[in-house]
Amino acid sequence: MVSRIAFGGIPIMRLPKEEAVSVVRGVIDMGVNFLDTANAYSDSEEKIGQAIKGIERDSLVIASKSTATDKKTFLSHLDLCLERLGTDYVDFYQLHNVSSRAKHDAIFAPGGAYEGLVEAERAGKVRFKAFSSHSIPLAMGIMKTGKFAAVQLPFNFVDDEASKEAIPLAIKLDMGFICMKPFGGGLLDSADLAIRYLLQFDGIVPDPGIEKLSEMREIVSIVNERKPFSEADKKVMDSLRKELGDRWCHRCDYCQPCPQGIGISSVLTVESMIKRMPLERVFAMARESIERARCCIECGACAARCPYSLPIPRLLKEKVAVWDKTVAGNAA
Ligand code: SF4
Ligand code: SF4
Repeated sequence: MVSRIAFGGIPIMRLPKEEAVSVVRGVIDMGVNFLDTANAYSDSEEKIGQAIKGIERDSLVIASKSTATDKKTFLSHLDLCLERLGTDYVDFYQLHNVSSRAKHDAIFAPGGAYEGLVEAERAGKVRFKAFSSHSIPLAMGIMKTGKFAAVQLPFNFVDDEASKEAIPLAIKLDMGFICMKPFGGGLLDSADLAIRYLLQFDGIVPDPGIEKLSEMREIVSIVNERKPFSEADKKVMDSLRKELGDRWCHRCDYCQPCPQGIGISSVLTVESMIKRMPLERVFAMARESIERARCCIECGACAARCPYSLPIPRLLKEKVAVWDKTVAGNAA
């Protein structure tokens, strides 16, 4: 059994090691037993490993992820994960961000990462097979194969597509549902509203990434308070939704392919990365996408495919401007 709330290990990447360790310990002391990290989150696994030293292993539920599509790399990520965490098993190991058909096909091909996951489960290195995705239709197809014990999908009150079919499906299949981006990847400022919205749904575990103990303290007190989500809350939520409505990239990648090879969702979500991650890491991860975005020929093919009618070429320009300002600010 996991706690009602998980701890998402992205933001501790930006903290010095000692501070990160003390945040993770503090979170565990608050009764949060579910820690979620990933190979892709820089030194997050290592910091969590330091923090859990001396804590009874089976009092914790630890989840991590690998973005690898081939078996060899996947298994090397898992071994590194176990070494960094200082444990001989993880509870959930997730195929990370299975959001495109191409990635899906590579993972499930002979010699793909899924074979590695099965092997790791047999060897006792992984208790439960899981995956994460930003594409609800693709994820639902994978869920229906019956191969996985848990799924991680984005779900919050502006990005609520998962509530329609994916969450009921997870419950029907008795799968765990880890709720990614409970605050909309940094877009929702009201923890109270965002968390109470999610708590209306049984069978899901919100997975907020936090870097300050005060943030988790606030979240835990919202959980413990059990204040219901009211009609007045719904009105506030509706107006926030309206405000964000046409500006919110769901990272579904339905807008692809772009003839200029622009990673549209990476560019449109760069502001949220800037808010949450160490700048050097954002610069390293997003520079190429941003440079490509400057080559947009405004053909409009992407916007025509976006189910959320995002004005993509205009938004790309806005995000590139935010990037340039951040780079200039950092150099000053
Ligand atoms: S408008 Fe720009 S981003 Fe969209 S498909 Fe055309 S070139 Fe790519
Ligand atoms: S721009 Fe639209 S289609 Fe592309 S990833 Fe974002 S929400 Fe999906």
